[in-house]
Formats: sequence, structure tokens, C-alpha cells
Amino acid sequence: MELVSRGAGGVAGLSGSGGDMVLKVEVLSVDDDRVRFLLGGVDVAFTNALRRTLIMDVPCMVIDDIFFFDNSSVVPDENLAHRIGFVPLRTDLDRYALPGDCDCGSELGCEKCRVVLTLDVAAETETRTVYSGDFVSEDPAVVPVSPSIPLTKIAPGQAVRLEAYARLGTGKEHAKWQPVSTAVYQHVAEIEVDEDRCTDCAECVKACPRNVFAMEEGKLRVVDVNLCTICGECEKACPVDPTAVRARPLDDLFLLTVESTGCLEPARLVAEAVRILSVKLDEFAGKVERGETEDVIDVYAVAEVEKARLARGSIEDVGGDDEDAVSDVGAEDEGDVDSDVE
Ligand code: SF4
Ligand code: SF4
Ligand SMILES: [Zn+2]
Repeated sequence: MELVSRGAGGVAGLSGSGGDMVLKVEVLSVDDDRVRFLLGGVDVAFTNALRRTLIMDVPCMVIDDIFFFDNSSVVPDENLAHRIGFVPLRTDLDRYALPGDCDCGSELGCEKCRVVLTLDVAAETETRTVYSGDFVSEDPAVVPVSPSIPLTKIAPGQAVRLEAYARLGTGKEHAKWQPVSTAVYQHVAEIEVDEDRCTDCAECVKACPRNVFAMEEGKLRVVDVNLCTICGECEKACPVDPTAVRARPLDDLFLLTVESTGCLEPARLVAEAVRILSVKLDEFAGKVERGETEDVIDVYAVAEVEKARLARGSIEDVGGDDEDAVSDVGAEDEGDVDSDVE
């Protein structure tokens, strides 16, 4: 008889949908900054697409333009601006538009696509630290996530006075617009214990670095399969030959951990990512139907040829495969590549 543990500490049904993909979600924990959830009935490609959308496509608001009126602190303007640009701001996605989607056309934006924050701090008798909490925002909903991020120090007689313009952007443009500090997935494990051969010696309990197992009334028990990283230590430690315990990754069940920088609630982050991904997939499906993906495929083919030609230029002994890759494309493409390389 076998003891099998899979996903969610015993919650069955998320894995092994078979046939058509049916997305299944189970939230394991959620708090102000972090959400952990199981995603079942999907493959690695979909899970990774969701992860990358979270990092690169979900917008958040950060400071992008700064006008310095005074900065006599020890930190030069450029360094201070860089530091300020990475201060996470609480974001109101429903109220503000991405600059590219706003009709104002203004370089510094308008009230629909930017928020102005000011910093006006002077040290009089004592050296003091300038913190993110010293910013005054024109919109009380768009303020630094934490008021205690140190920006610089000023000595008596020194001051920092500036006006900063925050706007929405995405991680695709710059890392400072990434709304997540963590967006990772892991395969959920399936742990099988052959109860007929297991001697309940507890060696796997001692070997497991993630405390997946426990002994209860002398019997081996899987406490939380979602903690398993499929490191294989339990299998190595088992004295039974062949091993009485096996941990293997399920290929259609994933555990995602998403941690917000504080700009948006984690649940909103995931909801936005799903919305953006589904819009992109709809657009792509439309292009496929209309046959509009050929340009993209042509560009891809040229890139492959370029790679082959570069390889031929730097490595004398080029095999037949590279030659085949070049001959696969038409004369027009080859001409383009020649002129580019030269
Ligand atoms: S594979 Fe590693 S983490 Fe998973 S149960 Fe075994 S020892 Fe623990
Ligand atoms: S190490 Fe092997 S025999 Fe010992 S408790 Fe674990 S599975 Fe059972
Ligand atoms: Zn605008």
C-alpha cells in the first residue's frame, strides 16, 4: 500500500486535469505584501508567462523626472535622483493612465497621468537624515510605501529642495517600475512512500532540509508537500533498497509566490497580470487568424541566418548544419544580412 501526497498538503484535484487545460487556483496564504497560490492544470510555459507578465507588464508608479532647486547634501544630484527613482510609491491604477495612453501629449504629463511630489528639507542646528517620508504628495493616495527609506544626510546649513514627477510605467522600460520584489514559481512535488517497505526509521525526516516529514505515533507522515524542493535528500537517506520514498515534480501543478514592493496589493497584482496576459493572447490569436504573424516569422528567420553567418565568420570549421540554415532562406534575406554585417 502506498502513501501519496500531492499539492496543497492533501487537497486533491488541482493536478492531472488531462485533456483540455482547465485552470485551477487555490490561494494558500495572502497578506498585505505576499500571496502564495497553487496553479493547476497548466504547463510551465503558461506559468512562466504569468510570472514574466507580473515582472515586466503590470504598471506601477515611481518618480521619473526631478527638478532640483537646491541640493547641498553630500550626495550628488544624479545619485540622489537614482535613489529617489527606486522608492516604491503606492499606486492607484484606476485613477491614472500610462503616459502613452493619455491624451495630454505633455512631456511632464497632466493630472491624469502624473503626480507631483515635493521635498523641502533643511538642517538647522543638527545633522539629519532626509527620508522618503519627507516627500509631500499632491495626491495623498500616491505616497512612498515606507516613510523610513533614507535618501541622504544633510549637515547644519545644508538643504534639499526638489520637485519630483511620478508616473506609471512598466518593468519592460526600467527595473524601477517592476511592481514585484519576488515573483517565482516552483513545481509542486508528489511524494510517494511505499508503506509496505518503509521501516519508519525516520532517516528521511532527519535528512529533509525543509521539514516535509514528521513521525507521528511511530509512523512516517508527510506534513506539508508544498515545502518540498525535490532535492532528493530523503531518497538518498533511505536505507531501504530500492528507496521506499520518492519525490518527483508534477508537471501541471505549480506553487507561485508573489511579493509586492508595496505599490499594489498582491491580489490586484495577480489580477492585473492575468488581465494583461489575456489581452495579449487575444491579440496574438487575432494576428494568427488574420495571418499577420508572417513579418515576425521573417524577422526570426533572418536572425537565425545572421547567427549562422556570424558563426561562420568566427569559426573556420563550420558544419553542414549552418550552411543548411543559410540555404533555407531566400536570396532577398541573404542580401539583407550581407549588407547588415558589412
Ligand atoms: S525531496 Fe528534499 S525537500 Fe523534498 S521531501 Fe525529500 S528531502 Fe525533503
Ligand atoms: S528513510 Fe525510508 S524507511 Fe526510513 S522512514 Fe523514510 S521512507 Fe521509511
Ligand atoms: Zn496626461
